[in-house]
Amino acid sequence: MRGVLLLLLVLFAFVAVACRRPAVAPPEPPPTVTVKKTEVDWKAQLSDEAFHVLREKGTEAPFSGKYHDDHAPGTYVCGGCGAKLFSSDHKFDSGTGWPSFYQPIDDKAIAYHEDTTFGMTRTEVMCARCGGHLGHVFDDGPKPTGKRYCINSVALNKK
Ligand code: FE
Repeated sequence: MRGVLLLLLVLFAFVAVACRRPAVAPPEPPPTVTVKKTEVDWKAQLSDEAFHVLREKGTEAPFSGKYHDDHAPGTYVCGGCGAKLFSSDHKFDSGTGWPSFYQPIDDKAIAYHEDTTFGMTRTEVMCARCGGHLGHVFDDGPKPTGKRYCINSVALNKK
């Protein structure tokens, strides 16, 4: 009996150690990322707001950004690396206060990641080239895709 208890104790200790993880795991960059910079370099390049959103996965306040009410034609590029991400052709007025698109300009331009923060399960949208956080995609968008890419203005520039 003591042997069994001892065995269980050892097993428990092993599992406890094996399952231990750092409190905050460093975010894994998407495998497509080719533009790699240190956080110090990103900080030097970006505004404080853009750094917070792109590199720290922050969210700008709704109706605060430069593109939520923008209707002029053009191409929206990554605020971090300049990759082409979205087109005004696919932009729609979601009423959410964030620029919204029903599809990216190219499927390969975007990387996706399941985001379980804040007690929700959402699909995070990132720039596939630099890994910059852009926003999230939801399934309540308009036709033809039914998707709503909810993107932070500060993560974008326009060409
Ligand atoms: Fe990028």
